[in-house]
Amino acid sequence: MYRFWEIRLAARLAASRFSNNTEPVKLILETTRLCNSHCKSCDMWRQPPGPELHPDDLLRAISTVARNVSWVALTGGEVTLYPHLRYLVGGLVSRCHNLLLVNIPLNGINPDRTADLIEQLLVENKRIMLHTTLSIDGIGQDQDELRGCGQWRQTIDTWGRLQTLRKRYKNLRVSAQMTVSSLNIAKSSQVIGRFAGESDTFIVAFGMDNRFYRVRDISASPGRPGGFDTRQLVTIGTKPAETSRLELQGSDAEVVREIVRRYKIAGLGGFLERLFLLGMLRRLRGGSAGVPCVAGDQVVFISAKGEVRPCPFFEESIGNLQDSNYDLHVLLRTAGAMDVRAAARTCEKCWNNCVGLPSMIASPIKALRLLSER
Ligand code: SF4
Ligand code: SF4
Repeated sequence: MYRFWEIRLAARLAASRFSNNTEPVKLILETTRLCNSHCKSCDMWRQPPGPELHPDDLLRAISTVARNVSWVALTGGEVTLYPHLRYLVGGLVSRCHNLLLVNIPLNGINPDRTADLIEQLLVENKRIMLHTTLSIDGIGQDQDELRGCGQWRQTIDTWGRLQTLRKRYKNLRVSAQMTVSSLNIAKSSQVIGRFAGESDTFIVAFGMDNRFYRVRDISASPGRPGGFDTRQLVTIGTKPAETSRLELQGSDAEVVREIVRRYKIAGLGGFLERLFLLGMLRRLRGGSAGVPCVAGDQVVFISAKGEVRPCPFFEESIGNLQDSNYDLHVLLRTAGAMDVRAAARTCEKCWNNCVGLPSMIASPIKALRLLSER
């Protein structure tokens, strides 16, 4: 049942790109803004989450585009704190008949609860592949400093439990995800060296750091003050005055090159992640990864409050699900939505794994050209 799932997923994304299909293949769903971590690279945990979308309303909206949905990336906050997680995943699997993959990022703070929840999801949703990614931004004390006191011990405990589950369930993939920013870029080889071998697909994400992104553009979005000074780590909703100034040491490109050199390819996912890293190198060299962004077309983001955007970082909104009585199919076709989707096609503000991977599948020739990047 799970054979060739990566190839089937890639084929569906590519087919959608070359057909007249105007509905998303991948959904990025912000389940909740609740978080129990204290990461330095993100201030989600400082914000009161406020009222969030009811899962029935979210599922109702997704039902209207369910036929094409093959990939769902859940995000947060901390997804395991979302009280309706099992209900949501079960609802997605029963409605989206072509669903192949659900990504769940984990902060690993509560090893017992996390392992129990993941096992329940695996048992209840055998038809789909579940890819869990555990956030590991540093080794030992570095993890504690970057994410909160005591997290290294919890991380290791959760990692061990996920590895045990992986041996038991064929529909589980387990990977470490390192968010590289000015805070930890110098230590990236340590994390890769310790966790890449045990990961199905080691994932390197780039924090919203001015060295990698155009800070002013990214920070200016609903709920976020615009016009951040450069040389600051971009976090969600933080006022510039509250954000510490952070600078990278040495050459960013050289460190990314070293990450690429150490990156071991495992399967199609690993190959795409390596291409993604080469895309970041190209971006650092020439300002663009050279691959058109598919946010708004093949990929659509829905916030915990029901706001629909091409991706989590694009400032213009397609609308709120409420505006169309929870009909996402209709909402994506309004005149305003068409304008926002068209604008996203030419956007080059960021290069992130969540949208970058589907973008590379949709433009395979441009993506393969990245292999010549040095
Ligand atoms: S990065 Fe994730 S775990 Fe850390 S504070 Fe932000 S939402 Fe929470
Ligand atoms: S480049 Fe794509 S993923 Fe990045 S902010 Fe723009 S639309 Fe979003």
